[in-house]
Amino acid sequence: MNAAQPLPGTDGDKDLLWQRELREQFPIVEAHPELAYLDSAATSQKPRAVLDAVQTYLTTSNANAGRGTYPWANRTTELVESTRERVKEFLRDPRPDRSGVHFTGGTTEGLRTVARDWLVPYLDDGDEILVPYADHRANLDPWLEARRLLAERGIGVRVRALPYQAASGDYDHRALGEAVGPRTRFVAATHVHHVYGGDMNVHRIREAVGPDVPICLDAAQSVGHLPVRLDDPSLDVDFVVFSGHKAMALPGSGAIWARNARGPEFRPGGWQGTPNTVGIVSLRAALDWLDAAGPERIARWTAALTTRLTDRLRHLGPYEILGCQAGLAAGSTLPESQRRQGIVTFRHRDIPSDDLGFILFSHGFMVRADSLCQAGADERAGSVRVSLHVYNTVEEIDRLLTVLASLT
Ligand code: PLP
Repeated sequence: MNAAQPLPGTDGDKDLLWQRELREQFPIVEAHPELAYLDSAATSQKPRAVLDAVQTYLTTSNANAGRGTYPWANRTTELVESTRERVKEFLRDPRPDRSGVHFTGGTTEGLRTVARDWLVPYLDDGDEILVPYADHRANLDPWLEARRLLAERGIGVRVRALPYQAASGDYDHRALGEAVGPRTRFVAATHVHHVYGGDMNVHRIREAVGPDVPICLDAAQSVGHLPVRLDDPSLDVDFVVFSGHKAMALPGSGAIWARNARGPEFRPGGWQGTPNTVGIVSLRAALDWLDAAGPERIARWTAALTTRLTDRLRHLGPYEILGCQAGLAAGSTLPESQRRQGIVTFRHRDIPSDDLGFILFSHGFMVRADSLCQAGADERAGSVRVSLHVYNTVEEIDRLLTVLASLT
Protein backbone atom coordinates (compact mmCIF):
# COMPACT_ATOMS: atom_id res chain seq x y z
CA MET A 1 0.00 0.00 0.00
CA ASN A 2 1.33 3.45 -0.75
CA ALA A 3 0.54 6.68 1.03
CA ALA A 4 -2.25 7.60 -1.37
CA GLN A 5 -4.28 4.52 -0.50
CA PRO A 6 -6.81 4.75 2.33
CA LEU A 7 -5.66 3.42 5.68
CA PRO A 8 -7.75 0.55 7.12
CA GLY A 9 -9.56 1.62 10.26
CA THR A 10 -10.02 5.19 9.04
CA ASP A 11 -12.69 6.93 7.01
CA GLY A 12 -10.78 6.28 3.78
CA ASP A 13 -10.04 9.14 1.41
CA LYS A 14 -11.82 11.61 3.65
CA ASP A 15 -9.38 10.97 6.48
CA LEU A 16 -6.39 10.99 4.13
CA LEU A 17 -7.31 14.45 2.90
CA TRP A 18 -8.13 15.65 6.39
CA GLN A 19 -4.80 14.38 7.71
CA ARG A 20 -2.83 15.95 4.86
CA GLU A 21 -4.43 19.32 5.55
CA LEU A 22 -3.64 19.07 9.24
CA ARG A 23 -0.05 18.00 8.65
CA GLU A 24 0.48 21.09 6.49
CA GLN A 25 -0.31 23.19 9.54
CA PHE A 26 2.88 22.07 11.32
CA PRO A 27 5.74 24.25 10.06
CA ILE A 28 8.52 22.13 11.57
CA VAL A 29 7.13 18.94 10.07
CA GLU A 30 6.64 20.52 6.68
CA ALA A 31 10.16 21.97 6.72
CA HIS A 32 11.75 18.52 7.21
CA PRO A 33 10.21 15.96 4.89
CA GLU A 34 13.38 13.87 5.21
CA LEU A 35 12.76 13.39 8.94
CA ALA A 36 9.95 11.57 10.74
CA TYR A 37 9.09 12.78 14.21
CA LEU A 38 8.00 9.71 16.17
CA ASP A 39 8.35 11.01 19.72
CA SER A 40 5.05 12.75 20.37
CA ALA A 41 4.58 11.03 23.73
CA ALA A 42 7.56 13.11 24.89
CA THR A 43 6.28 16.34 23.36
CA SER A 44 4.08 17.16 20.40
CA GLN A 45 4.92 19.46 17.53
CA LYS A 46 2.96 22.73 17.37
CA PRO A 47 0.48 23.81 14.73
CA ARG A 48 0.75 27.26 13.18
CA ALA A 49 -2.42 28.38 15.02
CA VAL A 50 -0.62 27.94 18.35
CA LEU A 51 2.53 29.71 17.18
CA ASP A 52 0.41 32.56 15.79
CA ALA A 53 -1.59 32.92 18.99
CA VAL A 54 1.61 33.29 20.98
CA GLN A 55 3.06 35.80 18.52
CA THR A 56 -0.17 37.81 18.50
CA TYR A 57 -0.38 37.86 22.26
CA LEU A 58 3.23 38.94 22.72
CA THR A 59 2.98 41.67 20.09
CA THR A 60 -0.43 43.07 21.07
CA SER A 61 -1.16 42.69 24.78
CA ASN A 62 1.75 41.15 26.71
CA ALA A 63 1.47 42.13 30.38
CA ASN A 64 1.20 40.46 33.75
CA ALA A 65 -2.02 38.73 34.79
CA GLY A 66 -3.99 39.68 37.88
CA ARG A 67 -1.95 42.85 38.38
CA GLY A 68 -2.50 46.26 36.84
CA THR A 69 -5.69 47.82 35.54
CA TYR A 70 -4.62 49.04 32.11
CA PRO A 71 -5.99 47.30 29.00
CA TRP A 72 -3.08 44.92 28.29
CA ALA A 73 -3.08 43.69 31.90
CA ASN A 74 -6.86 43.30 31.85
CA ARG A 75 -6.68 41.42 28.59
CA THR A 76 -4.01 39.08 29.99
CA THR A 77 -6.05 38.44 33.14
CA GLU A 78 -9.09 37.74 31.01
CA LEU A 79 -7.08 35.33 28.84
CA VAL A 80 -5.86 33.40 31.86
CA GLU A 81 -9.26 33.21 33.53
CA SER A 82 -11.15 32.29 30.40
CA THR A 83 -8.61 29.56 29.64
CA ARG A 84 -9.60 27.90 32.92
CA GLU A 85 -13.14 27.70 31.56
CA ARG A 86 -11.81 26.53 28.20
CA VAL A 87 -10.02 23.61 29.88
CA LYS A 88 -13.29 22.59 31.57
CA GLU A 89 -15.13 22.86 28.28
CA PHE A 90 -12.45 20.84 26.47
CA LEU A 91 -12.78 18.09 29.06
CA ARG A 92 -16.60 18.25 28.79
CA ASP A 93 -16.85 18.96 32.49
CA PRO A 94 -20.49 18.39 33.45
CA ARG A 95 -20.25 20.63 36.57
CA PRO A 96 -17.97 23.53 35.67
CA ASP A 97 -19.53 25.59 38.45
CA ARG A 98 -18.00 23.23 41.02
CA SER A 99 -14.64 22.36 39.56
CA GLY A 100 -11.40 24.30 39.41
CA VAL A 101 -8.48 24.55 37.00
CA HIS A 102 -4.96 25.32 38.15
CA PHE A 103 -2.19 25.97 35.63
CA THR A 104 1.12 24.17 36.00
CA GLY A 105 4.34 23.61 34.10
CA GLY A 106 3.24 20.09 33.14
CA THR A 107 2.14 16.77 34.55
CA THR A 108 5.13 16.30 36.86
CA GLU A 109 4.52 19.63 38.56
CA GLY A 110 0.78 19.02 38.53
CA LEU A 111 0.93 15.66 40.31
CA ARG A 112 3.41 17.05 42.84
CA THR A 113 1.06 19.95 43.54
CA VAL A 114 -1.88 17.61 44.14
CA ALA A 115 0.30 15.52 46.46
CA ARG A 116 1.65 18.43 48.52
CA ASP A 117 -1.27 20.81 48.58
CA TRP A 118 -4.21 18.46 48.65
CA LEU A 119 -3.22 14.91 49.62
CA VAL A 120 -0.96 15.75 52.58
CA PRO A 121 -3.57 17.79 54.48
CA TYR A 122 -6.29 15.27 53.57
CA LEU A 123 -4.73 12.08 54.97
CA ASP A 124 -4.90 10.84 58.57
CA ASP A 125 -2.80 8.42 60.55
CA GLY A 126 -3.44 4.84 59.39
CA ASP A 127 -4.82 5.79 55.98
CA GLU A 128 -3.82 3.90 52.87
CA ILE A 129 -3.24 5.11 49.35
CA LEU A 130 -2.85 3.12 46.14
CA VAL A 131 -0.33 4.35 43.59
CA PRO A 132 1.23 2.97 40.39
CA TYR A 133 4.73 1.50 40.69
CA ALA A 134 5.19 0.67 36.99
CA ASP A 135 3.96 3.84 35.31
CA HIS A 136 5.77 7.14 34.77
CA ARG A 137 7.98 8.21 37.68
CA ALA A 138 6.11 11.49 37.74
CA ASN A 139 3.13 9.51 39.05
CA LEU A 140 5.02 7.76 41.84
CA ASP A 141 7.58 10.10 43.36
CA PRO A 142 5.07 12.74 44.56
CA TRP A 143 3.03 10.18 46.53
CA LEU A 144 6.12 8.75 48.19
CA GLU A 145 7.18 12.27 49.04
CA ALA A 146 3.74 12.92 50.56
CA ARG A 147 4.21 9.86 52.79
CA ARG A 148 7.59 11.18 53.89
CA LEU A 149 6.22 14.64 54.66
CA LEU A 150 3.43 13.08 56.70
CA ALA A 151 5.82 10.76 58.54
CA GLU A 152 7.82 13.83 59.61
CA ARG A 153 4.64 15.04 61.30
CA GLY A 154 4.05 11.68 63.00
CA ILE A 155 1.28 10.65 60.59
CA GLY A 156 1.79 7.12 59.28
CA VAL A 157 0.32 6.43 55.86
CA ARG A 158 0.59 3.13 54.04
CA VAL A 159 1.41 3.34 50.34
CA ARG A 160 0.28 0.26 48.43
CA ALA A 161 1.08 -0.59 44.83
CA LEU A 162 -1.75 -0.58 42.34
CA PRO A 163 -1.58 -4.24 41.32
CA TYR A 164 -0.16 -4.63 37.87
CA GLN A 165 -0.17 -7.30 35.19
CA ALA A 166 3.07 -7.23 33.26
CA ALA A 167 1.65 -9.43 30.48
CA SER A 168 -1.22 -7.13 29.62
CA GLY A 169 0.41 -3.84 30.54
CA ASP A 170 -2.76 -3.03 32.49
CA TYR A 171 -3.61 -2.87 36.17
CA ASP A 172 -4.66 -6.21 37.60
CA HIS A 173 -8.25 -5.36 38.27
CA ARG A 174 -8.99 -8.62 40.05
CA ALA A 175 -6.14 -8.16 42.49
CA LEU A 176 -7.17 -4.54 42.89
CA GLY A 177 -10.29 -5.63 44.78
CA GLU A 178 -8.01 -7.27 47.37
CA ALA A 179 -5.72 -4.25 47.65
CA VAL A 180 -8.61 -1.97 48.57
CA GLY A 181 -9.50 -1.81 52.24
CA PRO A 182 -11.60 0.29 54.61
CA ARG A 183 -8.70 2.74 55.04
CA THR A 184 -8.10 3.28 51.31
CA ARG A 185 -8.45 7.03 50.95
CA PHE A 186 -6.90 7.83 47.56
CA VAL A 187 -5.82 6.28 44.27
CA ALA A 188 -3.36 7.68 41.72
CA ALA A 189 -3.71 6.09 38.27
CA THR A 190 -2.67 6.62 34.69
CA HIS A 191 -5.05 7.04 31.79
CA VAL A 192 -2.86 5.78 28.93
CA HIS A 193 0.42 4.04 29.70
CA HIS A 194 3.44 5.90 28.30
CA VAL A 195 5.36 2.68 27.52
CA TYR A 196 2.67 0.14 26.60
CA GLY A 197 0.22 2.59 25.05
CA GLY A 198 -2.81 0.91 26.56
CA ASP A 199 -5.87 2.48 28.13
CA MET A 200 -5.61 1.61 31.82
CA ASN A 201 -9.36 1.09 32.34
CA VAL A 202 -9.84 3.56 35.12
CA HIS A 203 -13.53 2.69 35.33
CA ARG A 204 -12.54 -0.64 36.85
CA ILE A 205 -10.58 1.16 39.54
CA ARG A 206 -13.69 3.15 40.36
CA GLU A 207 -15.70 -0.08 40.56
CA ALA A 208 -13.14 -1.58 42.95
CA VAL A 209 -12.75 1.40 45.29
CA GLY A 210 -16.41 2.40 45.40
CA PRO A 211 -17.99 5.81 45.00
CA ASP A 212 -16.23 7.77 47.74
CA VAL A 213 -12.49 7.41 47.16
CA PRO A 214 -10.84 10.25 45.20
CA ILE A 215 -8.91 9.22 42.08
CA CYS A 216 -6.18 11.35 40.54
CA LEU A 217 -5.61 10.67 36.86
CA ASP A 218 -2.31 11.20 35.07
CA ALA A 219 -3.66 12.15 31.66
CA ALA A 220 -0.31 13.10 30.09
CA GLN A 221 -0.74 10.56 27.30
CA SER A 222 -4.47 10.98 26.75
CA VAL A 223 -5.30 14.70 26.66
CA GLY A 224 -4.60 15.86 23.12
CA HIS A 225 -4.37 12.31 21.80
CA LEU A 226 -7.86 10.96 22.35
CA PRO A 227 -11.15 12.22 23.74
CA VAL A 228 -11.00 12.75 27.51
CA ARG A 229 -14.61 13.30 28.48
CA LEU A 230 -15.65 13.93 32.04
CA ASP A 231 -19.31 13.75 31.12
CA ASP A 232 -18.70 10.07 30.39
CA PRO A 233 -19.73 8.27 33.62
CA SER A 234 -16.93 5.74 33.13
CA LEU A 235 -14.40 8.52 33.73
CA ASP A 236 -15.42 9.27 37.30
CA VAL A 237 -12.18 10.79 38.57
CA ASP A 238 -11.40 13.74 40.83
CA PHE A 239 -8.24 15.16 39.29
CA VAL A 240 -7.12 15.22 35.67
CA VAL A 241 -3.50 16.28 35.36
CA PHE A 242 -1.89 16.87 31.97
CA SER A 243 0.94 18.57 30.09
CA GLY A 244 0.09 21.23 27.53
CA HIS A 245 3.26 20.55 25.57
CA LYS A 246 2.18 17.00 24.77
CA ALA A 247 -1.10 18.42 23.48
CA MET A 248 0.14 20.95 20.93
CA ALA A 249 0.84 23.79 23.41
CA LEU A 250 4.22 25.23 24.43
CA PRO A 251 6.70 23.52 26.78
CA GLY A 252 6.18 24.46 30.40
CA SER A 253 2.39 24.52 30.15
CA GLY A 254 -0.16 22.23 31.69
CA ALA A 255 -3.13 22.08 34.03
CA ILE A 256 -4.80 20.34 36.92
CA TRP A 257 -8.54 19.98 36.70
CA ALA A 258 -10.10 19.27 40.11
CA ARG A 259 -13.69 18.15 40.58
CA ASN A 260 -13.90 19.34 44.21
CA ALA A 261 -16.56 16.81 45.11
CA ARG A 262 -14.69 14.16 47.13
CA GLY A 263 -12.39 15.26 49.95
CA PRO A 264 -11.52 18.90 50.59
CA GLU A 265 -11.59 21.53 47.88
CA PHE A 266 -8.32 21.73 45.95
CA ARG A 267 -6.65 25.05 46.76
CA PRO A 268 -3.02 25.14 45.70
CA GLY A 269 -1.18 26.73 48.58
CA GLY A 270 0.91 29.83 48.91
CA TRP A 271 1.52 32.84 46.78
CA GLN A 272 1.29 31.77 43.16
CA GLY A 273 3.38 34.46 41.48
CA THR A 274 3.30 35.32 37.80
CA PRO A 275 1.65 32.61 35.73
CA ASN A 276 3.15 31.31 32.50
CA THR A 277 0.91 33.56 30.44
CA VAL A 278 2.47 32.60 27.12
CA GLY A 279 2.03 28.91 27.94
CA ILE A 280 -1.58 29.53 28.92
CA VAL A 281 -2.24 31.44 25.69
CA SER A 282 -0.70 28.55 23.77
CA LEU A 283 -2.80 26.03 25.69
CA ARG A 284 -5.98 27.81 24.82
CA ALA A 285 -5.06 27.93 21.13
CA ALA A 286 -4.05 24.26 21.28
CA LEU A 287 -7.38 23.20 22.79
CA ASP A 288 -9.23 25.19 20.11
CA TRP A 289 -7.12 23.52 17.44
CA LEU A 290 -7.65 20.04 18.87
CA ASP A 291 -11.41 20.50 19.21
CA ALA A 292 -11.61 21.71 15.61
CA ALA A 293 -9.52 18.75 14.39
CA GLY A 294 -11.61 16.35 16.48
CA PRO A 295 -10.03 14.22 19.23
CA GLU A 296 -11.97 11.12 18.08
CA ARG A 297 -10.64 11.49 14.59
CA ILE A 298 -7.10 12.09 15.81
CA ALA A 299 -7.33 8.94 17.95
CA ARG A 300 -8.70 6.96 15.03
CA TRP A 301 -5.84 8.07 12.81
CA THR A 302 -3.07 7.30 15.28
CA ALA A 303 -4.69 3.97 16.26
CA ALA A 304 -4.82 2.97 12.59
CA LEU A 305 -1.14 3.85 12.11
CA THR A 306 -0.33 1.95 15.30
CA THR A 307 -2.12 -1.14 14.05
CA ARG A 308 -0.25 -0.90 10.76
CA LEU A 309 3.03 -0.77 12.64
CA THR A 310 2.28 -3.61 15.09
CA ASP A 311 0.68 -5.85 12.45
CA ARG A 312 4.00 -5.99 10.61
CA LEU A 313 6.44 -5.58 13.46
CA ARG A 314 5.08 -8.60 15.32
CA HIS A 315 6.12 -10.78 12.35
CA LEU A 316 9.68 -9.48 12.33
CA GLY A 317 11.55 -12.19 14.24
CA PRO A 318 14.07 -10.29 16.37
CA TYR A 319 11.61 -7.74 17.73
CA GLU A 320 9.69 -8.02 20.97
CA ILE A 321 6.79 -5.61 21.34
CA LEU A 322 6.22 -4.71 25.00
CA GLY A 323 2.81 -4.66 26.66
CA CYS A 324 -0.45 -6.38 25.88
CA GLN A 325 0.15 -9.32 23.54
CA ALA A 326 -3.57 -10.11 23.10
CA GLY A 327 -4.04 -6.79 21.32
CA LEU A 328 -1.40 -7.80 18.77
CA ALA A 329 -3.04 -11.01 17.59
CA ALA A 330 -4.49 -10.99 14.10
CA GLY A 331 -8.21 -10.28 14.25
CA SER A 332 -7.88 -9.29 17.91
CA THR A 333 -11.26 -9.01 19.51
CA LEU A 334 -10.04 -6.43 21.97
CA PRO A 335 -12.27 -3.39 21.77
CA GLU A 336 -10.66 -0.49 19.95
CA SER A 337 -10.30 1.49 23.16
CA GLN A 338 -8.10 -1.30 24.56
CA ARG A 339 -5.61 -1.33 21.73
CA ARG A 340 -2.41 0.65 21.73
CA GLN A 341 -3.14 4.37 21.57
CA GLY A 342 -0.42 5.71 19.30
CA ILE A 343 2.45 4.25 21.36
CA VAL A 344 4.47 1.17 20.43
CA THR A 345 7.53 0.15 22.45
CA PHE A 346 9.83 -2.63 21.40
CA ARG A 347 13.27 -4.21 21.67
CA HIS A 348 15.56 -5.91 19.21
CA ARG A 349 16.93 -9.28 20.33
CA ASP A 350 20.53 -8.42 19.42
CA ILE A 351 20.80 -4.67 19.02
CA PRO A 352 20.88 -2.64 22.24
CA SER A 353 18.08 -0.09 22.28
CA ASP A 354 20.29 2.99 22.33
CA ASP A 355 22.17 1.68 19.28
CA LEU A 356 18.85 1.01 17.59
CA GLY A 357 17.85 4.59 18.34
CA PHE A 358 21.02 5.87 16.64
CA ILE A 359 20.51 3.59 13.65
CA LEU A 360 16.94 4.78 13.26
CA PHE A 361 18.01 8.41 13.44
CA SER A 362 20.60 7.80 10.74
CA HIS A 363 17.57 6.97 8.58
CA GLY A 364 15.71 10.09 9.69
CA PHE A 365 13.50 8.63 12.44
CA MET A 366 13.32 10.43 15.75
CA VAL A 367 12.29 7.91 18.41
CA ARG A 368 12.83 7.57 22.13
CA ALA A 369 15.42 4.97 23.12
CA ASP A 370 16.07 4.57 26.87
CA SER A 371 14.21 3.47 29.99
CA LEU A 372 11.36 5.94 29.22
CA CYS A 373 11.20 7.35 32.79
CA GLN A 374 9.27 4.25 33.86
CA ALA A 375 9.21 3.81 37.60
CA GLY A 376 11.23 0.77 38.61
CA ALA A 377 12.55 0.23 35.07
CA ASP A 378 15.97 -1.29 34.71
CA GLU A 379 18.00 1.62 33.33
CA ARG A 380 20.18 -0.81 31.36
CA ALA A 381 17.33 -2.70 29.73
CA GLY A 382 16.03 0.19 27.65
CA SER A 383 13.62 -0.01 24.76
CA VAL A 384 12.66 1.94 21.68
CA ARG A 385 9.39 3.83 21.68
CA VAL A 386 7.56 5.04 18.61
CA SER A 387 4.82 7.49 19.53
CA LEU A 388 2.54 9.05 16.98
CA HIS A 389 0.36 12.05 16.41
CA VAL A 390 -1.93 13.28 13.74
CA TYR A 391 0.92 14.66 11.60
CA ASN A 392 2.40 11.18 11.11
CA THR A 393 1.73 9.39 7.86
CA VAL A 394 1.35 5.89 6.48
CA GLU A 395 4.43 6.50 4.41
CA GLU A 396 6.51 7.22 7.54
CA ILE A 397 5.34 3.98 9.14
CA ASP A 398 6.10 1.99 6.01
CA ARG A 399 9.56 3.54 5.70
CA LEU A 400 10.22 2.73 9.36
CA LEU A 401 9.12 -0.88 8.85
CA THR A 402 11.44 -1.21 5.87
CA VAL A 403 14.40 -0.07 7.97
CA LEU A 404 13.42 -2.29 10.91
CA ALA A 405 13.05 -5.26 8.58
CA SER A 406 16.52 -4.64 7.18
CA LEU A 407 17.96 -5.08 10.69
CA THR A 408 16.73 -8.62 11.23
N1 PLP B 1 3.08 11.04 33.07
C1 PLP B 1 3.18 10.38 31.91
C2 PLP B 1 2.28 9.22 31.67
C3 PLP B 1 4.07 10.81 30.93
O1 PLP B 1 4.17 10.15 29.79
C4 PLP B 1 4.89 11.94 31.21
C5 PLP B 1 5.88 12.41 30.23
O2 PLP B 1 6.29 11.71 29.34
C6 PLP B 1 4.75 12.59 32.43
C7 PLP B 1 3.85 12.12 33.34
C8 PLP B 1 5.57 13.80 32.76
O3 PLP B 1 5.18 14.86 31.96
P1 PLP B 1 5.97 16.24 31.97
O4 PLP B 1 7.39 15.91 31.62
O5 PLP B 1 5.30 17.06 30.95
O6 PLP B 1 5.86 16.81 33.33
